[in-house]
Amino acid sequence: MEQFCQNKIKIAIVGAGPCGVYCAINILNLFEQNNFQNYRLDLIDKGQILRTILPTGNGRCNITNAIEDVRDFVKNYPRGEKFLYSLFFRHSNFDSIEFFKSIGVDTCIEDDNRVFPVAQSSKYVKDKLLNKLRTFKNIRFINKKINSQSDLLGYDKIIISCGSRGTKELIKSFSHTCIDFKKALCALKIENASKYPKGVSVKSLDGDFIFTNDGVSGPLIFKISSVNAYKEFPYEINIRLFEPDNLIELSKKFPKKSIVNLVCEFIPKSLAMVQVGTENKKAAEVSKEKMISYSKLRLKVLSCAIDGEIVNAGGVDLDELDKNCKSKIIDNLWFCGEIMNIDGFCGGFNLQNCWSGAYVVANDIVSSIINKKCLECK
Ligand SMILES: Cc1cc2nc3c(=O)[nH]c(=O)nc-3n(C[C@H](O)[C@H](O)[C@H](O)COP(=O)(O)OP(=O)(O)OC[C@H]3O[C@@H](n4cnc5c(N)ncnc54)[C@H](O)[C@@H]3O)c2cc1C
Repeated sequence: MEQFCQNKIKIAIVGAGPCGVYCAINILNLFEQNNFQNYRLDLIDKGQILRTILPTGNGRCNITNAIEDVRDFVKNYPRGEKFLYSLFFRHSNFDSIEFFKSIGVDTCIEDDNRVFPVAQSSKYVKDKLLNKLRTFKNIRFINKKINSQSDLLGYDKIIISCGSRGTKELIKSFSHTCIDFKKALCALKIENASKYPKGVSVKSLDGDFIFTNDGVSGPLIFKISSVNAYKEFPYEINIRLFEPDNLIELSKKFPKKSIVNLVCEFIPKSLAMVQVGTENKKAAEVSKEKMISYSKLRLKVLSCAIDGEIVNAGGVDLDELDKNCKSKIIDNLWFCGEIMNIDGFCGGFNLQNCWSGAYVVANDIVSSIINKKCLECK
């Protein structure tokens, strides 16, 4: 007990991205609320603090999503749905919105439920988080790359929030299993891309997408890439462009019109021409089966392209963590954020994984310290 009082508790957060910083602020807040000062918190990053928040939401930072029911919210995570359910019950999207309000970031909800700062700037969010960090004394920032567990000797509590880029070996150095990282939320390269109208956007029944130089991009494609993150290339995708019955009805009304002109009622002309090809007959001469085939876009996906939100599927195996994101293998070790085998669709879901995980970890760490502390430490 005496030794405990003499030595400050040393906490390391490795990774000062959105998750690490949110975790740090919550730990510091909780210590302050409990009037506990016998600690030192090191926030360690190989790069600049919060640099990874800057490109989010195209520079606007899609902080979270305003879906109300947790059961609906978790459906937006192809990996991690069950694990997140418990995290979101303890720190929801609305708790995060409150947190941001408390540090001066007012938010607004767009029609599709995405939540952005009113300032429409990720730099603004970064600055507010940094301003909040600066109000605390017992924290220091260390610019250093952590390569393995042995670089963190001497720390009593360790949080790893290093994201998913180049962190496989680090995860393994802690004797944890790393589920292979795979790109998700990316644009896709397709076979015969040159035959499709580059730059043309399409509103399909399944979602919106756009033809690029070498393939397809846009919200629907990001979702498809995410769902298929572990599928071997090449694979085929089918997009429902429009309701075939509507074309069939229209062709009955205008049997003498050319079929391509009728297909144009539902999709851009340049795409209609590709779909119909050289068989541009009068509507009355086209079979039902053909019309159904015009309503579907079948594409062969060759690989991921580089643009998009690009999160990685994969990371720390969730079976090796308890409900507080604490390692079941090594004592006093926690993981949170994108380094875990959790990834969500576009719409603020990936940052929400960071906020909720970071909050739960902060609470678990602080309660493990406060509950054990001796009276002199108060
Ligand atoms: C272009 C783009 C736009 C996005 N837009 C959105 C959006 O609008 N909304 C949304 O919800 N999500 C978005 N995302 C996803 C979101 O940004 C990530 O899910 C989120 O940043 C993950 O946060 P993190 O703190 O877990 O990891 P990261 O943001 O990756 O941060 C990890 C930090 O750890 C540091 N680090 C890594 N390894 C080491 C090491 N060995 N030693 C020391 N430091 C290390 C890194 O330098 C980094 O600072 C976007 C992603 C991209 C790429």
